[in-house]
Amino acid sequence: MRIAVGQLLQETNSLNPVLTRRADFELYGLVSGAAVVAAYGDVGELAGFAALPEEMGQPIDWHGLLRAVAWSGGPLAPGLLAELVEAMTAPLRATQVDGVLLSLHGAQSAVDEVDVSGCMLQAVRAAVGADVPIVATLDLHANITPLMATQADVLVGYHTFPHVDHVSTGRRAAHCLARMLRDGTRPAVRMYKIPMVVSSEGRATDHGVQADLWRQIVAAEASDDVASVGLYMVQPWLDAPWLGWTLYQACFGAAPPLDEIAVGQQCWQTRRHRQIDYVKPAGLLQAARAIAGGPVAVSEGHDATNSGATGDSTHLLAAMVDEEIGGGGGLCFCVDPEAVGRCHDAGVGAIVSLSVGGKRDPFCEPLAVQGTVEGVGVLHYTLSGHGGHNLPVDMGRMARLRVSDTTIVLVEETGPGSSPQLYTAAGADPRTCKLVLAKSPEGFRADYEPFAAGILYAAAPGCATPFIEQIVLQLSNRPIFPFDDLDKVSQAAWAGLVYQRGARS
Ligand SMILES: [Zn+2]
Repeated sequence: MRIAVGQLLQETNSLNPVLTRRADFELYGLVSGAAVVAAYGDVGELAGFAALPEEMGQPIDWHGLLRAVAWSGGPLAPGLLAELVEAMTAPLRATQVDGVLLSLHGAQSAVDEVDVSGCMLQAVRAAVGADVPIVATLDLHANITPLMATQADVLVGYHTFPHVDHVSTGRRAAHCLARMLRDGTRPAVRMYKIPMVVSSEGRATDHGVQADLWRQIVAAEASDDVASVGLYMVQPWLDAPWLGWTLYQACFGAAPPLDEIAVGQQCWQTRRHRQIDYVKPAGLLQAARAIAGGPVAVSEGHDATNSGATGDSTHLLAAMVDEEIGGGGGLCFCVDPEAVGRCHDAGVGAIVSLSVGGKRDPFCEPLAVQGTVEGVGVLHYTLSGHGGHNLPVDMGRMARLRVSDTTIVLVEETGPGSSPQLYTAAGADPRTCKLVLAKSPEGFRADYEPFAAGILYAAAPGCATPFIEQIVLQLSNRPIFPFDDLDKVSQAAWAGLVYQRGARS
């Protein structure tokens, strides 16, 4: 049994003007052929795909295609997608395979293609033909398009937010593929669009307003007749057609397990839900001091690198260095290769005056600071937790700059903003400070809550602003909440059941 395996993973933020280039994929390990499984077979979804031999009860001859992972950011640079598609599909044209397992994101766009995941699925389908089963995994924040649903036999999405189920999602995909290979059957598919987008704060799957619905979704997939059930709460900073939430169901039995109109209604009723009191930059220190002890973990959602923002916002940074915070001081990071270079040139112990941040983010200005270089080095670590499993992270060179009682970890490259691992790998201690910033809207809670004295959500203008109604999108289908005046789902003629096909054997 020969099974092709490939990965193209990046979340795109259309508001981020910094394009994602080949070098950004190389930082996370851009490989093809046998190295896909040999080097990355225990990383993320691929670690779950590895369950296929057990599911099949026979050895698998893995046919590695391409493994391309980059951290969330701006759209792919012109021409890059064509290069990645060619690298993914060339090995399929040379060898016959029995099935395909792909790890994709689903909310990924390029300057020259708004639906990267759909485009990749279409190319893979063209290479293997109509009869070879293709199962693809997606992020829970995917924007499912009819093209994706058409080209894949089954789409399998994360069931957790914060995302901690990369491996089990891969395993669920392997389980689906094994069933199709064993029985020679293909499930029926239904794709139901809900015309809404919301920010990610307060939308965890394990507690809060969505938790009950998620219990229903996970339970629905557990049935033997069901291949996959997913609710995709799309990330809203993606300028693309079909933008909106999706209920996707693939089942071998006659009827889908969930009533899509009822689920759509359940989601729709939560659309205005916003249980969060956002702290403005000017009120940040006061809000943190109102919480006893430390650290207070603060979501800098508007500059969430996990949501593809630039990672160099200065709105909160300016408030932190304006006065002594006390109680262990502040800790934050900022993507600023120029400032990293200045600190490396000056050396440890030097006092430097420089401008920090605001060079990539169109929603803020650089901040002039004077501080002491406390450490220089490189920032490499292996991420496990929200956002990755055994994921090798390379944020380039780094410098720790002390300004007032705040330590700014300056880095050359963007990377996970949700994990305290970033700070410990940089030689700073997120447990002993008073206030620590996480460039993540919600997922950071999985990693910070076990030791944080409190959690705050801050908000300011930025590429990943939680105030979705303020962003301008050109390509999304209309009408859609919150951009248009909509009372019910059925008023959006483009939404509802937009794709379906029957089961076949
Ligand atoms: Zn996500």
